[in-house]
Amino acid sequence: MTLNILFAALPERWGEYEAPLRAALDALGQDYVLSTEMAADQVDYMIYAPNSTVQDFTPYTRLKAVLNIWAGVEAIVGNQTLTVPLTRMVDTEGLTRGMVEWVTGHVLRHHLGMDAHIVNPDHAWAPTVPPLAPERPVAILGFGALGQACARALTGLGFPVTGWSRSAKSIEGLTSDHGPDGLKRVLQNAQIVVLLMPDTPETANTLNAETLSWMPKGAFVINPGRGPLIDDAALIAALDSGQIAHATLDVFRTEPLPKDDPFWAHPKVTVTPHIAADTRPASAAKVLAENIRRSEASEPLLYEVDRTAGY
Ligand code: NAP
Repeated sequence: MTLNILFAALPERWGEYEAPLRAALDALGQDYVLSTEMAADQVDYMIYAPNSTVQDFTPYTRLKAVLNIWAGVEAIVGNQTLTVPLTRMVDTEGLTRGMVEWVTGHVLRHHLGMDAHIVNPDHAWAPTVPPLAPERPVAILGFGALGQACARALTGLGFPVTGWSRSAKSIEGLTSDHGPDGLKRVLQNAQIVVLLMPDTPETANTLNAETLSWMPKGAFVINPGRGPLIDDAALIAALDSGQIAHATLDVFRTEPLPKDDPFWAHPKVTVTPHIAADTRPASAAKVLAENIRRSEASEPLLYEVDRTAGY
């Protein structure tokens, strides 16, 4: 039987995805049609990005699964017309590696105080020896695929890392806490906090005036998760008071970040334009094809979204 696979992402992504997808699908050894256009009632699988024009899944009567090419699913998870399984992207070779590199780079920037030497217009000779990694506790809020990978990299460099998640975890070589009660314990000790949670009603404003006050004075915030995880006004107040020394933000409530947003001009904020970890077609295509294989073999899908939890 021929599988009909619709690529429903922005048209400009097709050029970079088509060849890797065909290579990965060819390896399955099953006949398939892969296209950006297809009669809705003929589609078996949809390779999907939430900014696609497809927002009503009702006409896709034979659809077996929607395979999201993004890690974040907040823009699709509540779609009531989508009733088949939805998967999110976890790709250790590509997306995860990108996040690990981005987070490690920004943690090291703040840990080492690199800015003092990169931006030094007065040519000041002011040696300040940074502490070593074991003296710099890091918290990672959101201890899933990306949070754990970042924790492993930072632990490998010697940072004492504590992860925080919704459910309790026991992961060899990593330290973690969980649940609302655990947040205070984790933040009280963290000099650098990395946010890698999904955007759900429960995670909104996880960092707010109260929780920011739990962190040691002069701590750093790094957010490659999602904008709504932080109360923006509370963060700016904490930066202005010195409670937070610097915030590196990759994600925002509104993207692109409006030109007049206070984050742009704030001297203690670094804005990066949602580039922490993009999906890499070459490796992601293999994950997508593997899920099609699993679905056809009636095996459990990888990275299926829990629609109730919202991620
Ligand atoms: P994941 O594997 O689903 O992990 C999410 C983690 O967040 C899990 O540990 C989960 O806890 C935790 N969490 C969820 N709700 C929580 C709550 N209410 N309280 C405490 N912890 C909670 O997701 P992932 O693949 O690591 O991706 C994480 C996020 O990164 C994505 O959702 C996306 O928003 C963001 N992202 C950003 C970029 C970028 O370029 N900036 C790229 C990719 C992804 P449990 O383990 O208990 O379920």
